[in-house]
Amino acid sequence: MVDSRKVVVLGGGVVGVTSAYFLSRQGYEVTLIEKNEDAGLETSFANGGIVTPSMSDPWASPEIPRFILKWMGKEDSPFLLRPAALPGLVSWGIKFLRQCNHTAWARNTAVIYRLCSYSKEMLNQLVADTGIEYDGSRLGTLHLFRDQLSIEVTKRVAETLGAMGLRYDLLDEAACIELEPSLRSQKGLIAGGIHYPHDEAGDARLFSQRLAQYCSTNGVTVRYGESIKRIETLNGAVSAVVTDAEAIAADTCVVAMGNESNSVLRPLGIRLPIYPVKGYSMTFPVAQWNGAPVIPMADTGRHIGITRLGDRIRVAGTAEFAGNDRSLNPKRIGNLRRFFLDVFPDYPDPSAGEGWTGFRPMTPDGIPYLGETPVQGLYLNTGHGHLGWTMSCGSGQVLANLISGATGDLDLTGMTLASR
Ligand SMILES: Cc1cc2nc3c(=O)[nH]c(=O)nc-3n(C[C@H](O)[C@H](O)[C@H](O)COP(=O)(O)OP(=O)(O)OC[C@H]3O[C@@H](n4cnc5c(N)ncnc54)[C@H](O)[C@@H]3O)c2cc1C
Repeated sequence: MVDSRKVVVLGGGVVGVTSAYFLSRQGYEVTLIEKNEDAGLETSFANGGIVTPSMSDPWASPEIPRFILKWMGKEDSPFLLRPAALPGLVSWGIKFLRQCNHTAWARNTAVIYRLCSYSKEMLNQLVADTGIEYDGSRLGTLHLFRDQLSIEVTKRVAETLGAMGLRYDLLDEAACIELEPSLRSQKGLIAGGIHYPHDEAGDARLFSQRLAQYCSTNGVTVRYGESIKRIETLNGAVSAVVTDAEAIAADTCVVAMGNESNSVLRPLGIRLPIYPVKGYSMTFPVAQWNGAPVIPMADTGRHIGITRLGDRIRVAGTAEFAGNDRSLNPKRIGNLRRFFLDVFPDYPDPSAGEGWTGFRPMTPDGIPYLGETPVQGLYLNTGHGHLGWTMSCGSGQVLANLISGATGDLDLTGMTLASR
């Protein structure tokens, strides 16, 4: 526990902004630094928008290695490993493969679920306390199966999470279409589904920007357009955060820089296994379309989510191991558009929609790094992978508890540097 009442939060994605909010609520004098001109402009910008404890299973599962090999180089596959990315992936890939067994899968699922379900409670509390609006909905999610394998894999996840307390309802095709009538074009193609009534959704960018705005008017110093260069230490403790504008004296800081966290950690001898796993989304305006879906959905076989965010539909997913290539691959975007138009052939403007790509800050076990480091006053809140929006509020609250020494209500075993 550090006694100072000043904390610098590094990075203004959804994870950094929620950290700043919860620290400020505990009475800290918080400075939030973000290199862009607003919050939530990197991975938190146009993600799937689902707040989903129901997807607490990590990607590292017993089945995945065989699928990755099968899909290697295929542009229309949900997981795409580009051979050119292999050299930079070796160390992370070995760690990932070590997690692809039943024991690790069950252990990691339990840790992720603990954080996700706690996080959803913290989100609801935050929204009640601040009143911020972010095109949110509380309608649950509908997971659709197209084949026997998806049924088996997804049922195993549901049963595992069900044993931990998550409610789910198994549905046949007719019940799926009754729940979400916009699926009627899929009659005869759906093998079944699961409704998770307690999942939620919302726009992570809107949330980040409005929460940052709220923080700024409630005492947090928000510094946009400033690039963090390094963290300075003295006698094994944080002494300053150096940006391209200034050295800010600080004895406590939280690293929430997503994929770029290692740039400030590595010089301090900390190297986290975070790989930037590329994903894509398309956002379609609802406009005059009367048949638009309302319930957020996940097509489990294709690994694509469809989420209603106010007057827009977000279609997001797919994973590409392609290093730091930020280009918007037209084939991957085309796949999302095709998928959307297949499911909703009555969408009135087939050429509409805006594409986006972002990098999930992915750890091999799917669990973020939270909490203390060997450097006194240096805290981690990073590596939230495919679930950073879902986990953000819980992670922010936990960090604030840890820094203030408040009694935490979440067991951090499996999430800290020291416990893995
Ligand atoms: C296609 C896709 C779909 C997804 N769908 C979902 C979903 O449905 N539900 C869900 O829960 N999660 C989803 N995710 C995951 C989620 O978006 C991420 O886990 C989350 O956005 C990570 O937030 P973050 O704050 O850690 O990272 P970021 O949002 O990337 O924030 C890090 C911030 O640090 C700043 N920064 C970095 N370096 C510096 C520097 N040197 N100086 C100053 N600032 C710096 C960056 O500019 C950035 O703003 C999805 C991700 C993708 C790609």
